[in-house]
Amino acid sequence: MPQPEHGVTTDGARQMLRTAGMRVTAARMAVLEVLGEHPHATADTVAKLVATRLGSVSKQAVYDVLAACTGAGLLRRIEPAGSAARFETRIGDNHHHLVCRRCGRTEDVDCTVGQRPCLTPSDDAGFAVEEAEIVFWGLCPDCQGQGTIHHHNTKELQS
Ligand SMILES: [Zn+2]
Ligand SMILES: [Zn+2]
Repeated sequence: MPQPEHGVTTDGARQMLRTAGMRVTAARMAVLEVLGEHPHATADTVAKLVATRLGSVSKQAVYDVLAACTGAGLLRRIEPAGSAARFETRIGDNHHHLVCRRCGRTEDVDCTVGQRPCLTPSDDAGFAVEEAEIVFWGLCPDCQGQGTIHHHNTKELQS
């Protein structure tokens, strides 16, 4: 089966866990594989997808795996304003995100500079700046097409 661009194979997931010095468990492998296929999934979505693979696994167990893998640097956690935290296996490349205000669709944007921080503050107040986390907000192509429909959220969306 062809793997998506940032897909994680079973072997890949095992290797990621071993490299991070983490015990290899079915739940951890499943979380990494699911996120390889569904980048930017929320914890709830990951829990649902992992449950369909493993049968019974508690939400809390999946949340624990997400936290452990994020802590170990295997996952990146992004938290766009007003959205649940989202997770991805594409780590360490300082990429950014486009987020649709209406449906929450999230897409990767490569960093144009290639190294962090790719933006420098006009006044860094003496901070040693390591990273700039950028979210580009707007409407995805599908949602732009619905622009003329009077949606009950329209007012909120325009603010
Ligand atoms: Zn959208
Ligand atoms: Zn991403």
